[in-house]
Amino acid sequence: MGSIQEAPEAPSPADIQPTEIRIFYEPTVYLVARQTISEEELERFLTEHGFNWQSDTEVAAERLVETAGRLCYMSFARPRPGGNAAYLRHILEAGHGSVLEHAVWSFLFVGVSRALTHELVRHRAGFGYSQLSQRYVDESVAEYVEPKVIAEDPELHQLWVETIARTHQAYVQLARKLLEKFRDEPDGTLRRKLARQAARSVLPNATETKIFVTANARAWRHFIEMRASRWADVEIRQLAVKVLRILQQEAPHLFGDYELRALPDGTYEAITMYRKV
Ligand SMILES: Cc1cc2nc3c(=O)[nH]c(=O)nc-3n(C[C@H](O)[C@H](O)[C@H](O)COP(=O)(O)OP(=O)(O)OC[C@H]3O[C@@H](n4cnc5c(N)ncnc54)[C@H](O)[C@@H]3O)c2cc1C
Repeated sequence: MGSIQEAPEAPSPADIQPTEIRIFYEPTVYLVARQTISEEELERFLTEHGFNWQSDTEVAAERLVETAGRLCYMSFARPRPGGNAAYLRHILEAGHGSVLEHAVWSFLFVGVSRALTHELVRHRAGFGYSQLSQRYVDESVAEYVEPKVIAEDPELHQLWVETIARTHQAYVQLARKLLEKFRDEPDGTLRRKLARQAARSVLPNATETKIFVTANARAWRHFIEMRASRWADVEIRQLAVKVLRILQQEAPHLFGDYELRALPDGTYEAITMYRKV
């Protein structure tokens, strides 16, 4: 592979102003919201219908799913043995997945690439998204996600860094020139938006982004099955495994059936016998 200096159209390193690039290697995951139960209202419903039912789980998501499932058959009176764990296992076995839609978690994913979020937002059913806007937020702070396979090879890493630095500089220069082009626009916010929305066209898939994601248990399960998979891209696989580990702590009766198996590249895939409930 030729070095960047050998390419005739490439600027010499002297033309590239040093840019401090902040590189991310794996996603950071924040669990920012989970549900709580309105105990008074649930109790009011049970009392008004003559039930004296209590689930044996303290986890709101697990109780909500059990409550929703029991509502379908009004089966609060004589629960079968095994408690919430057995009840939810039966839901998974039966594929009665719609009741899982009542359990919801919100995450913030940071240090992820635009390539990752482009794949993530393909998950439609049961998902809500809010993503950092490249039209409103200045991208001149250089933050990029480097694939590990490139990072650990000095030659590939060098090529990657030089490419990112050049592209980044192109973005900064374009944004500056476009601001000048729109200098007659009196609205400063609009002027910056007009400049950034055109300049961002040169930003690569590796550009770091942040995304707020809310989804229900059924949707998270489907996401995990599709993306914590050996066939998925490494970055989104790492993200899916991180989400799974958190959700297994959050609600073991809803996510405890997944087993994590090591893959040759050092990542993991998630396996379950209850796929796509
Ligand atoms: C390894 C891998 C490779 C991929 N490669 C490509 C690729 O090359 N090109 C590409 O475009 N995409 C690709 N994808 C994305 C993939 O096709 C899906 O868009 C993505 O995984 C979301 O899955 P989904 O549609 O099942 O999820 P969701 O949109 O969350 O839907 C969940 C489920 O709801 C049901 N559903 C949702 N919407 C509808 C509907 N409109 N009608 C009927 N049923 C519906 C389906 O049962 C669906 O599985 C790839 C995904 C993976 C995991």
